[in-house]
Amino acid sequence: MLIVKKFGGTSVADKEKIFNVARRCVEDYKNGNEVVVVLSAMGKQTDLLLAQAREINPNASKREVDMLLTTGEQISVSLMAMAMNSLGVPAISLNAFQVAMHTTSVYGSARIKRIDVDRIHSELANNKIVIVTGFQGINSFGDYTTLGRGGSDTTAVAIAAALNADACEIYTDVDGVFTADPRLVPNAKKLNEITYDEMLELSSLGAGVLHNRSVEMAKKYGVQLVVRSSLNNSEGTVVKEEIKMEKMLVSGVAADKNTARIAVIGLEDQPGVAFKLFNHLARHNINVDIILQSVGRNGTKDISFTVAEDSVEEAVEILERHRAGSLKCHKIDVEKSVAKVSIVGAGMMSNAGVAAKMFEALYDVGVNIKMISTSEIRVTVLIDEIYVEKAMKAVHDKFSLA
Ligand code: ADP
Ligand code: ASP
Ligand code: MG
Repeated sequence: MLIVKKFGGTSVADKEKIFNVARRCVEDYKNGNEVVVVLSAMGKQTDLLLAQAREINPNASKREVDMLLTTGEQISVSLMAMAMNSLGVPAISLNAFQVAMHTTSVYGSARIKRIDVDRIHSELANNKIVIVTGFQGINSFGDYTTLGRGGSDTTAVAIAAALNADACEIYTDVDGVFTADPRLVPNAKKLNEITYDEMLELSSLGAGVLHNRSVEMAKKYGVQLVVRSSLNNSEGTVVKEEIKMEKMLVSGVAADKNTARIAVIGLEDQPGVAFKLFNHLARHNINVDIILQSVGRNGTKDISFTVAEDSVEEAVEILERHRAGSLKCHKIDVEKSVAKVSIVGAGMMSNAGVAAKMFEALYDVGVNIKMISTSEIRVTVLIDEIYVEKAMKAVHDKFSLA
């Protein structure tokens, strides 16, 4: 079998953990498998590097930030190769250049376009364990890029797809995918299986256990994923197209504090206004999430929407720049202390009353809803950030997920 195994930062945080991972990989290798390992940077290394960059220059260019961040993963892969070598097993580390992991050019949130597999194949053919840097790529300018926070999962899935691997295992610091973040909702339950679509919604809505693009890519290429603990041998969660069990009404609750609301007040109530507003943002690659438009009155209307909190400053600056020209409005309001709480479940498609039940749970604990958005398998509400844990627990209990 060809197995791709990915280990997150906490799983390689120190010498002992590096050897723990090395031994797990060596076991598969000694059982006759071809093993490709994808690693994140050790512990909180990526956060530390980002803090260092900010200290030197808060407005550092994204190219230089990516150049810096890629060092984190180079440390973990080379140390891992040394650990395996010391266990008497041939292993080699490769970075994004050495593999040739081609991405789009957007620094900080590049997308993988193509992976050259020749080098990996030839190292495997030499009976080596191949250890690849997660999170990083190279663009057409010959520069390093990174895939966005948590992006090593996506590297692993992309490599598994490119190599047509028999298994893709994502090892982390929890036992699998839970009905909610077990650190926020202690009675959350581990799921044995979940569909790509549900997992994609959960990870896009804040369940950081998998990078959302990794799930998107797994679905696209039919890569079955297993999310499991690097610390024990429990079975974990399988992420795949169809699951055997009856579809649950709600399979999980997610929260995302990296959210801000922008309200554009007093826009002209005319055709083309929404187009102009969102086009300005789209041209700068700013993703907009929940959108709410008020009923027009006296020839004006308001549009409010959410963006990721880390892009709110840029978004407002862009809008302010166009206020005198194409975007006439009375004022632009920003609220940063908001968060999204969402429920996800394939079963809600055919069930009335799921949204009402979620709203009731929030009413029970006195949490006010600021915005609502729904899809076939999801309901999202925007609330005050301070109530996130209370809201998650209430919603989780309401649907008896524990
Ligand atoms: P890694 O470094 O291994 O990639 P991450 O911190 O990125 O680990 O992801 C694992 C974390 O995801 C867990 O520690 C947990 O707090 C968080 N998490 C959020 N939502 C969920 C969920 N629904 N199920 C499991 N873990 C979750
Ligand atoms: N090291 C990167 C991060 O902290 C990538 C990852 O861990 O997946 O975001
Ligand atoms: Mg992660």
